[in-house]
Amino acid sequence: MNAMEDFRAEVGSSGPVCVKGGGTRWSLGGEANTNVRVVHAPGGIDSHDPAEMTVAVWAGTTLTILAEVLAEKRQEVVLDGPPGSTVGGSLSVGWNSIRRQRIGTARDSLLQAECVGADGRIFKAGGPTVKNASGYELCRLLVGSLGTLALTGRVILRTRPLPECSLWLRGTMSPVEVERSCYRPSSILWDGSNSHVCLEGYGADVESEAEGLAEHGMTEVAGPPDLPPDRDRWSGDLPQGAVLDVATGVVHRHGSTVAPEVDPAVKVIAHRLKANFDPQGRLNPGRDPYQMSA
Ligand SMILES: Cc1cc2nc3c(=O)[nH]c(=O)nc-3n(C[C@H](O)[C@H](O)[C@H](O)COP(=O)(O)OP(=O)(O)OC[C@H]3O[C@@H](n4cnc5c(N)ncnc54)[C@H](O)[C@@H]3O)c2cc1C
Repeated sequence: MNAMEDFRAEVGSSGPVCVKGGGTRWSLGGEANTNVRVVHAPGGIDSHDPAEMTVAVWAGTTLTILAEVLAEKRQEVVLDGPPGSTVGGSLSVGWNSIRRQRIGTARDSLLQAECVGADGRIFKAGGPTVKNASGYELCRLLVGSLGTLALTGRVILRTRPLPECSLWLRGTMSPVEVERSCYRPSSILWDGSNSHVCLEGYGADVESEAEGLAEHGMTEVAGPPDLPPDRDRWSGDLPQGAVLDVATGVVHRHGSTVAPEVDPAVKVIAHRLKANFDPQGRLNPGRDPYQMSA
């Protein structure tokens, strides 16, 4: 039996079940029901094709190991998360990196997913190439669905070139001024008093842009500020200790946040989808992707 078959056998075809990755976002969208069986996705890197800019990886692989392997060919994927985070967990959560302006979204990075559905059968969504354009875009539904539609065993992800140079600067320039002064910064963060900006690209370009910012008092720092673990949407006020991701309006903050209002019509469609993917409600019961904050 191959790893996907083993995973399918572990998931089985009856009874409530969910996948646990690194557990770094385990309670997101609600607590798992007490009677749910917890399984683990296979780990390991299947194949990396640097010329095609794709990597086939098992969903239980940690992001740290994946990053190490891709870095050997100076590539990376968009997925991000704290130590221990897995590829499958990160896709199921679907949050985006603070470097999204440069590297894109988690949703766009998933080219193909091999999953076990609620009926206990294996299905494949998407295609292995970056120019895939046929069929329903099921991959897009899977990202951010918290494992409530299917359990992911193996994926093919789009890779990106690592920048030649990457630099963080910090200072009291307003985020608007920083944005006006830079050509496509990878990230601008604002803590209410200071801006952090990430410049990435060719060394000479990054250095000349950094020199321009230095004239306005921006100085080089080791990296981004420590980001609080919870997320919210920008409402016009920055809570104490929070950090705003200027490009996306995501507020990184401490403490419980209120899930955004979801249009009732969208909820109806979401419930219909769930009922079609998982009529018995056996996949990750207790979790609701609409209870995630941002
Ligand atoms: C401080 C902090 C910073 C972060 N920054 C970023 C960031 O910059 N960018 C970003 O993208 N994310 C970020 N994250 C979120 C991060 O992606 C997730 O915490 C993490 O990747 C989830 O992986 P995990 O293996 O720990 O999942 P778990 O916590 O184990 O699981 C999370 C959810 O996914 C489900 N799940 C796990 N594996 C599978 C699978 N194979 N198939 C189906 N469902 C599955 C679980 O059942 C659970 O509901 C951040 C989180 C924190 C706490």
